[in-house]
Amino acid sequence: MFDTLSDRLTSVLQNLRGKGKLSDADIDATAREIRIALLEADVALPVVREFIGHVKERAKGAEVSEALNPAQQVIKIVNEELIGILGGETRRINLAKNPPTVIMLAGLQGSGKTTLAGKLALWLKKQGHAPLLVACDLQRPNAVTQLQVVGERAGVATFAPEPGNGVGDPVDVARRSIEEARHAQHDVVVVDTAGRLGVDEELMKQAADIRDAVTPDETLFVVDAMIGQDAVTTAEAFRDGVGFSGVVLTKLDGDARGGAALSVRQVTGQPILFASNGEKLEDFDVFHPDRMASRILGMGDMLTLIEQAEQAFDQEKAEKAAAKLGSGELTLEDFLEQMLAVRKMGPIGNLLGMLPGAGQMKDQLANVDDKHLDRLQAIIRGMTPAERANPKMINASRRQRIARGSGVAVRDVNDLVNRFFEARKMMQQMAGRFGFGGGGSATK
Ligand code: GDP
Repeated sequence: MFDTLSDRLTSVLQNLRGKGKLSDADIDATAREIRIALLEADVALPVVREFIGHVKERAKGAEVSEALNPAQQVIKIVNEELIGILGGETRRINLAKNPPTVIMLAGLQGSGKTTLAGKLALWLKKQGHAPLLVACDLQRPNAVTQLQVVGERAGVATFAPEPGNGVGDPVDVARRSIEEARHAQHDVVVVDTAGRLGVDEELMKQAADIRDAVTPDETLFVVDAMIGQDAVTTAEAFRDGVGFSGVVLTKLDGDARGGAALSVRQVTGQPILFASNGEKLEDFDVFHPDRMASRILGMGDMLTLIEQAEQAFDQEKAEKAAAKLGSGELTLEDFLEQMLAVRKMGPIGNLLGMLPGAGQMKDQLANVDDKHLDRLQAIIRGMTPAERANPKMINASRRQRIARGSGVAVRDVNDLVNRFFEARKMMQQMAGRFGFGGGGSATK
């Protein structure tokens, strides 16, 4: 859903790579690009304004982390602000202290409420609950049958007006369903309500009446993420007409621009609890603002790397090595130092595997385990300082000596030296792409 936005943001942020310092003009230009990208993705204007305001203020402010270079700083700020507009912390569903917990679904017709009821029921069941689905959409032809079908697929019970009793009163059905839940020991009740194609008063009144009859612990506003800017006005209408405690985004698997998803939390002030991304009952999950932000930024685990770099890197050594990485002057001594620093951060395969785009390197790293690293360390320790500083001088006879001294085969020494040259070349290329190093002042 966020492919275009992701591409735009990635390219804007990659333009910052290799800059030693960001001027206010650089930041303004970047902010302008991000603004256009968000507007083109259909994010609501007030949300864009606030977002850009924060990013600019923070990027220009004194918020300078010693562990990150300017490009990484900005990526970090943009990521944190994205998480912010998506709601910050993951918000879990509230379960009532005295069951049954009542969850009411509200939203336009076609937003995906009935499908969601099934998804939610299956999810709850997997968590050990015994949900009851309640059919209060008595307007749309077949809505009751549809709910019964999804209920059956999820393997949960459905409560519906008895056939032959006419259309029935949704408020009455809702009320009776709570009694039924108590009676049959269902600890969660999911109430599906009727939607219309557009917002209308009658619809709002019915939803409000059902709400008053069952006093839900959660009222979830279900919104189709593909409807663009309309999502915001619909959300406002439901907020004012029925009120809701959380949002569910559906159809995130679609190829629309998805700005709705990015606006609705900020505009309504209510958190996004779940996301639906397909027609199958399993295409559903708890909504995690941080994961969504990193998906939108399209920088995958680069963000994790930034976080870990901030936490673990020895600043001075990192600064030196970063400069060297960029300039291609990395020595075996640095290699050893970096290896030791990196090992403090956890298994090396995990860490380096996180670098996006390091495909070739990832393959090599898949074979690197910590035992292997011990051997590499021993080999480097068996070299003279001159050899570590200038690996090119390690000729055949030196290789034999090093192998003997560190108790490995010559083949292992050859392997290390070759890998080192390869890694140096690759890191130099990556440094260019991601703005590590690049002239020695990149971390300032
Ligand atoms: P309701 O009128 O709000 O109850 O909406 P429905 O649950 O009947 O959903 C309307 C249509 O959207 C159906 O064809 C669903 O299969 C489809 N749908 C629901 N959720 C999703 C989703 O997350 N992704 C996709 N691709 N389709 C969905």
